[in-house]
Amino acid sequence: MSLANRYADLLDTIRIRERALFFPLRIPNELELQARWFAGDFGKHFVSLAGDKIDIVQFGTWNREAGPDFRDAAIRINGSDPIRGCIELDVSDRSWETHGHATNPAFEETVLHVFIERSNREFFTRTRSNRNVSQVCIDPTVLPDAFSENVPLARPGRCQAPLKDLPEERVRSVLDAAAQFRLQQKCARIRNKIDNHGRDEALFQELAAALGYKENKLPFTLIAQRLPLNLLREKPDESEALLFGVAGFLETPDLDVYKRSTREYVRQLWDRWWPHRDAMQRMILPAKVWRMSGTRPVNHPQRRLAGLAMIAREWPSFRRCLSKAVHGDQPSPSFGVASTPTATVADFFNHLEHPFWNFHYTLTSGAASRKMALIGESRIAEILANVLFPFWLADDLEIWPAYAQLPARLSNRRLETGATRLFGNDSRRKQFLETVAHQQGLLQIYEDFCMQDNSDCAQCPFPEQMAKWT
Ligand code: SF4
Repeated sequence: MSLANRYADLLDTIRIRERALFFPLRIPNELELQARWFAGDFGKHFVSLAGDKIDIVQFGTWNREAGPDFRDAAIRINGSDPIRGCIELDVSDRSWETHGHATNPAFEETVLHVFIERSNREFFTRTRSNRNVSQVCIDPTVLPDAFSENVPLARPGRCQAPLKDLPEERVRSVLDAAAQFRLQQKCARIRNKIDNHGRDEALFQELAAALGYKENKLPFTLIAQRLPLNLLREKPDESEALLFGVAGFLETPDLDVYKRSTREYVRQLWDRWWPHRDAMQRMILPAKVWRMSGTRPVNHPQRRLAGLAMIAREWPSFRRCLSKAVHGDQPSPSFGVASTPTATVADFFNHLEHPFWNFHYTLTSGAASRKMALIGESRIAEILANVLFPFWLADDLEIWPAYAQLPARLSNRRLETGATRLFGNDSRRKQFLETVAHQQGLLQIYEDFCMQDNSDCAQCPFPEQMAKWT
């Protein structure tokens, strides 16, 4: 049995327990729900409230005009031929009425109404012409992870004591198993996304999310969904301006707020954005969706967005670099990733140049005295670990030997919390977290066990299962 399957068995011990009383920890907001729906995170097969089998054939595109959230979508009802139309996603079923969709002709083409909350009384979604629209209620607790999370403060858990006495090899084996399981989960999500949006778009969306970091994963995902790579590649001279415009970063019409060294660059962006602004009005992200505080200036979302623009512009050479990372210089059939793909990928990112963003932190900051990389080393490591390796796994490439070697560069609050819960002050704690794989394994265990536990460890099966792990 593979290690990932063994971890899945371990997880079954928790699934037979009752679902945690306090779940969900957080109801995602409407924009986040829509982004995750479009990404396919809720799946594509549902049963409507009327008991019909609903299959999503095509998620459609984000609607730029008045009307439902997604247009040009297609669904099947009970295996019918695809029915084309729009999909509306709301937090509550009643929003259809309270938002006035029931009388709005722009919602006439709606074929599916999706929501997470049902009201106490039965509610039918009807269009202005009184057509009944299928309703699907989705469950946010099935989401694999959240765009952002409130992590509880850490204290050592019950498994700290038994883990301390376990031989190092056994702890590493459990972390490997959980990491392989997590990789497979990620790979399944990516396959799903490839299925829904095609290979390049899926990769582009994942890269955008990685550039958003934890704080701005949502707006970056929305941008990549609303401005697909395909569209950006069709308008290479305007793509950067479109990205900044849709991000809402060009909403100040007064050039005087910018430093002199910046005005020329901003003027160029404006000139290219304004002809599209009216048509794209509905796509522009509200300022409140961005989290600017807490990010280091060098990681400011505007710099990251410029990085995304450059990746889109250099897409063919990015794809060539990925191929080289897998196959080496010789295009040959290969079933495994080269042992050190890192250098090839880092080389691509290190060569991304931007005359403005190499020297600026934000649109309003002054010029820096020295040149800064558009995408830094730790972000490249993150992209490799969380985007490219899972993509290669989705291609059925043997990635584990190279993945297991990736050194961990960063930690974060959730990891530290997990480490404290499981390892307490075990002197081996640091060495258990020296690789990306072990960090990811720890996160998986933390999410599957600690975050599902509502018994202060008493009912958690992990310590006992650990003792049996050979
Ligand atoms: S909830 Fe389970 S895995 Fe988490 S610290 Fe407690 S015993 Fe360990």
